[in-house]
Amino acid sequence: MRALAFNDALTGLPNRASFMDLLTRRVISRRSDDTAFAVMMIDLDRFKHVNDTSGHAVGDLLLCKVAERLRAEIREGDVIARLGGDEFAILLATSVTEEADLLARRIVERVGDQPFLLDNQIIYIGASIGIAFSPTDGTDPTGLLRNADLALYAAKLDGKGRHRRYDAALNAASVERRLLEEGLRHAIENDELELYYQPLLDTRSGRIGSAEALLRWNHPERGLIPPADFISLAEDTGLILDLGRWVIRTACQEATSWPDNISVAVNLSPVQFSDPGLAATIEAALKSSGLRSSRLELEITEGVLLSDEEQTIATLTALKTQGLLISMDDFGTGYSSLSYLSRFPFDKIKIDQSFVRQIPGNKQCTAIVHAIITMGKCLDMAITVEGVETEEQHAFAVAQGCDAVQGYNVSKPLQRTDFAAFIAEWTPYCRLRTAA
Ligand code: C2E
Ligand code: MG
Ligand code: MG
Repeated sequence: MRALAFNDALTGLPNRASFMDLLTRRVISRRSDDTAFAVMMIDLDRFKHVNDTSGHAVGDLLLCKVAERLRAEIREGDVIARLGGDEFAILLATSVTEEADLLARRIVERVGDQPFLLDNQIIYIGASIGIAFSPTDGTDPTGLLRNADLALYAAKLDGKGRHRRYDAALNAASVERRLLEEGLRHAIENDELELYYQPLLDTRSGRIGSAEALLRWNHPERGLIPPADFISLAEDTGLILDLGRWVIRTACQEATSWPDNISVAVNLSPVQFSDPGLAATIEAALKSSGLRSSRLELEITEGVLLSDEEQTIATLTALKTQGLLISMDDFGTGYSSLSYLSRFPFDKIKIDQSFVRQIPGNKQCTAIVHAIITMGKCLDMAITVEGVETEEQHAFAVAQGCDAVQGYNVSKPLQRTDFAAFIAEWTPYCRLRTAA
């Protein structure tokens, strides 16, 4: 009975109740013998994905293997427990920061750098870690665990596969984040979201061929918030699903008032692809707005293909069959795996701004842009150069033979009404002449 109550049945490690019990005792004894100690919270990265795609049996096996690796790393006197799910904790006998750091680094390496071979599958996961020291970071069990958890949360935000120590600023940051999350939750119903549109110039015809819809949040107190400041929060909290649906619906609706030969491009987050209702959302938006499917483009980043590649490609293929255009966004950053380009017939590749930024001075960037454009031609994928700010960059992009340019040189992202005015005034020849 005791074993059942205090041990985790799957891994055999002490469970949460047992860990809390030990931690409480440790806190009490610290008060009398005045020795410091530390608490480490460990959370696995991508575990949910393994569980969802390879099944719970493999997930369980993985947890056991992780428990083994963790057990091998700790020293005598340390206690390791599984708190639940993919969350582990260690009660460290040491309070020396460097020792705790070293252990955390070893764990991140042992879990993240060496894949697991399970059921004939090679599985890569990672570990993120938060550490809190007693008494500096907390004197009672709940406070210590909460602060180790905050540090863990920060480590995840830092990009996973890392460890972080608690510091007081985390508390402020987490309060801030929670406030933002609360606000974002009501942004749609409070009518605080808005789409800006940035024109894309077709280099051959000199026409505006499409516009990219870029999300803005008009925060009642903070003013206009750019997507970089809230998209990742929306992704972490799942709010991106609602936001994404709003963006698709609104973009389709608003594009119907434009001339019939201008399409609208919408950015999709990888998280939206985990929503089985994505295709239906798009279909419904097209139907209710009356926008032709060939006037809607979807921009995806590599992140979309990193998770469930087969399912994603199936969804993309279905959408493409309906006539939508699919673009690979921010190409050249991240993994830039060319295998994606052979696995899915993208209609467009958008070269990331970072390359154009250094053109024409930088020889490497010039060569890379040139190579991507050549590659695009061979693959029959149109190429957009993003972030074109100067006339010089524009001339370069055109000379290299890209199909479209986007950037401040043509126009910044515009509010809906300003965009309507912009396209009404646009004369194809003016840009062609400067390019020539
Ligand atoms: P992106 O899709 O690569 O969009 C282009 C970004 O570059 C936009 O930033 C745009 O304002 C900016 N930009 C365009 N031309 C220039 C230029 O010449 N110079 C410079 N310095 N910047 C330029 P923005 O609007 O802040 O959006 C940032 C990112 O946020 C987007 O990158 C996209 O990944 C994401 N995002 C925007 N709207 C949405 C959305 O509705 N859903 C999702 N999931 N992501 C979105
Ligand atoms: Mg984009
Ligand atoms: Mg981009």
